[in-house]
Amino acid sequence: MKVIEQLKNSPVIAQYDVVVCGGGPAGIIAAVAAARGGARTAIIERYGFFGGMATAGLVAPISVFNYNGKRMIGGIPWEFIERLKDIEGAREENPLGNITFNPEKYKLIAQRMLLEAGVSIYFHSYLTGCKQSGNSLTHIFIENKNGSEAIAGKYFIDCTGDADLALQAGVPMQPASNTMQPASLIFMLGGVDIDTLPMIRHKDQGVNYHDLNMRQILEELGKTQKLPNFGGPWYCGVLAHGTVVVNMTRMHVDMADNRKATQAECLLREDVFTFVDVLQKHVPAFRNAYLISTATQTGIRETRRIKGVHTLTGEEYINATDFPDAISRGCHPVDIHASDNNKQRCEFLKDAAFVPYRCLIAPGFPNLLVAGRAFSADSVASASVRVQASVMGLGQAAGVAAALCVSEGIDVDKVNSAKLRETLTGYGANLTK
Ligand SMILES: Cc1cc2nc3c(=O)[nH]c(=O)nc-3n(C[C@H](O)[C@H](O)[C@H](O)COP(=O)(O)OP(=O)(O)OC[C@H]3O[C@@H](n4cnc5c(N)ncnc54)[C@H](O)[C@@H]3O)c2cc1C
Repeated sequence: MKVIEQLKNSPVIAQYDVVVCGGGPAGIIAAVAAARGGARTAIIERYGFFGGMATAGLVAPISVFNYNGKRMIGGIPWEFIERLKDIEGAREENPLGNITFNPEKYKLIAQRMLLEAGVSIYFHSYLTGCKQSGNSLTHIFIENKNGSEAIAGKYFIDCTGDADLALQAGVPMQPASNTMQPASLIFMLGGVDIDTLPMIRHKDQGVNYHDLNMRQILEELGKTQKLPNFGGPWYCGVLAHGTVVVNMTRMHVDMADNRKATQAECLLREDVFTFVDVLQKHVPAFRNAYLISTATQTGIRETRRIKGVHTLTGEEYINATDFPDAISRGCHPVDIHASDNNKQRCEFLKDAAFVPYRCLIAPGFPNLLVAGRAFSADSVASASVRVQASVMGLGQAAGVAAALCVSEGIDVDKVNSAKLRETLTGYGANLTK
């Protein structure tokens, strides 16, 4: 392939203590935590709103904050839910602490909390690269309607979900897998009789809430006609009259590859229209349903993850192995969707699991933290931690750690884990077995 050089001068538009890249569930909480810890903080987001998969991907519900009825992920993540509840934007389902929410109210509360914390917001700004001195990051580059701009920072938190910043910085990644979990374009339907619909609830430990009846129908139909690959189907309310989001399309695709992602968006949009038609015909609650929208982007379950100082394994995670530097918990089962068929492997945890701080940092990278689904884990542990409540917990830890680094002027691997854990516990995180 022919390669041409692109020479650009990027004005350095601002300087911060902490720059958070990506405003999904992890990034929102990371930025609030860093700012509340006293760091001058900025957050970079490619869309004009926050929420990542929760809003741009229409992924619902927010799973899960509790284990056996006990809150495990507390602090700023739970405060976010309380703020949503205050404006009737969230409904808690117990004992799991599973949250049905309204995506528009999610966007509103996220921006309110970030602005209240004093975080500088850069919307419509795509992270394109970084400048380094050795392995230390000095600036990030963003592209937006102003052109190419640089932002200087002391510490950086990669919450892009796809480890975009870590990749640009040269952090090694976990080995690529050909069984990467599938992507799904979620869609929103109106005119639904939600009282008779078997909705996702996640309210009982050990139960998978999909529409078993419709699944059988789809399997039967698939014997006589060509149907797209599907999962579930799972239906989740959005706290709006007669409206649900439907998670059932699926495709094995590497969404971190632009050509493949483009193809996936086109094919999955076709599949949505096929499935809307099938649902209207076969599910009584959908008889009068209509398509309100497809998600802004196809939902991504899995892409790149960093190779951190520690790689959390499925065995450690399922057995709830405790670590001296544990900074957050996970309560969701290991939830692996097959890449090329409609099967799902769910493995339930022996106890609420622990995530060590070492999974958020990469060896030799002194001012970079990675939170959210791109943290350092194998595919099994990642298949649980990737859910929203857990990644919010990682975001909180990364933000608190970055603020500690700012106040002490230390590298990310020099953070005193006892102090970090004490601060997190003070916020409301439950780190005790
Ligand atoms: C189909 C599907 C079903 C799921 N079901 C559930 C469920 O039932 N319950 C649950 O809790 N979780 C579920 N999840 C998982 C969950 O939604 C995600 O794993 C979670 O949102 C990850 O959060 P994150 O903050 O790490 O990344 P993301 O949510 O991906 O957020 C990343 C953010 O960074 C921004 N960004 C990315 N790259 C750049 C860039 N280069 N420049 C600027 N901004 C950038 C994005 O726009 C986004 O806002 C599901 C996911 C999918 C795809």
